[in-house]
Amino acid sequence: MSDKFDVIVIGAGPGGYVAAIKAAQQGLKTACVESWTSKDGKSQVLGGTCLNVGCIPSKALLEVTHKFEEASHDYESMGILAKDVEINVAKMQERKLGIVKQLTGGIAGLFKANGVTSIHGHGKLLANHKVEVTDKDGNTKTYEGDNVIIATGSKPIEIPPAPFDGEHIVDSEGALEFEEVPKRLGVIGAGVIGLELGSVWARLGSEVTVIEAQDKFLPVVDQQIAKDAKKQFEKQGLNIVLGARMTGAEVKKNQVNVTYEDANGKQEAQFDKLIVAVGRRPFTDGAIAEDSGVKMDERGFIFVDDTCKTEAPGVWAIGDVVRGPMLAHKASEEGVMVAERIAGHKPQVNYDCIPNVIYTSPEVAWVGKTEEELKAEGEEYNVGTFPFAANGRAMAANATAGMIKIIADAKTDRILGFHAVGPQASEIVAQGVIAMEFGSSAEDLALTCFAHPTLSESVHEAALAVSGGAIHIA
Ligand code: FAD
Repeated sequence: MSDKFDVIVIGAGPGGYVAAIKAAQQGLKTACVESWTSKDGKSQVLGGTCLNVGCIPSKALLEVTHKFEEASHDYESMGILAKDVEINVAKMQERKLGIVKQLTGGIAGLFKANGVTSIHGHGKLLANHKVEVTDKDGNTKTYEGDNVIIATGSKPIEIPPAPFDGEHIVDSEGALEFEEVPKRLGVIGAGVIGLELGSVWARLGSEVTVIEAQDKFLPVVDQQIAKDAKKQFEKQGLNIVLGARMTGAEVKKNQVNVTYEDANGKQEAQFDKLIVAVGRRPFTDGAIAEDSGVKMDERGFIFVDDTCKTEAPGVWAIGDVVRGPMLAHKASEEGVMVAERIAGHKPQVNYDCIPNVIYTSPEVAWVGKTEEELKAEGEEYNVGTFPFAANGRAMAANATAGMIKIIADAKTDRILGFHAVGPQASEIVAQGVIAMEFGSSAEDLALTCFAHPTLSESVHEAALAVSGGAIHIA
């Protein structure tokens, strides 16, 4: 194998593997270095956090448990008699692993088909865009790249009051692997990951308490949407404690004794398992030599400009390891942008149009600005909302919780924010993303013909409501 490449990517998550494929498609000689090794120590694992221990396995569990919950609680009202529905956790986990294996194996096939050289080992960026790779037996080899893309991702944050023990106190990865349903489950952090994983196990019968330090629920979400979502989650049995600061977690006699302080003073709680989901930190351990020229901020994020260029010429960084939301699709978009820029094109990522989703039930999804942000910026805007309770398809589907909310500039009517809480919000938000990417006004959506009966008609009605003209609500 030649040691010289046009592009060397370090990390094969959704940022790195997409960048590598796109670079190879541009005719660039490309290698992708990935250190992840299978549990049996034999083979390389591609796909990063997202495919192995993030987006995909969590959605596999969320889909199954959503169906289980529907079958247990909702079917009877629809005339389906499915008595004594049971969950087989081992089978659910086996199915999850099967999906992960299929997708990660698919990347190896894509690398082959596109001519990407896959290198198994730990990559370290040296000066002058050289990359040193140490394989699992400790052998090192140095490769030269005209360009290097760092895509080494992120890792869960561990907090001193609740150190992971891998059995009772776990991170998101551990929470995806429970072999049985914990009777009492504590979740530290009411963010996306905490709510999704809490939901998985709550649907299977866990008594779930979510302990969150902030006073506001989902502060980054439009607060009208967040309040609606919280009401639904509490109805499902999630006990959400806000303004609570964790002070300790101790494992004794097979249970986790948690102490925290909230507005009412010192509190105690006992759990069988505790998931710590307080966020993720950029991961660059051992990946960047001091003389490489790459700089990081005090939290460990690699400094990049809008085009993901680092301060070292020819070195780029993308995905969770740089500023911006820690999302797979954001990482991939940056990967495509960088690969095309290396090939001489000038694409950009539109950071104002990156959708966010919380895959709970109901789902929460949004793109663009919240009302709170616009108020703080002193912008004048109009709002249109439409509840799923007034949507025929939502009624037919027995999923009437939630609403669509569209916020448009008061002068130009241009859509500034698109928010959804409700059934298939993760799919519906794409309509807002496309509308905003094309610079649409709320009237453009209002003048568009939507199929009937669909959940998307709520988008139409919310757009009509921006100028006060929704049809199906008094
Ligand atoms: P990663 O996916 O973390 O990949 C980095 C890769 O680099 C890893 O494979 C790692 O082994 C490798 N690596 C690191 N250092 C080196 C080195 N020195 N040499 C060689 N290889 C190295 N995002 C969404 O958009 N939607 C979701 O639904 C979603 N759900 C999630 C659920 C959970 C439970 C978690 C934990 C995350 C979820 N995310 C989701 C976030 C998403 O997984 C990340 O944003 C995404 O994986 C980031 O991609 P990346 O390529 O930057 O990094």
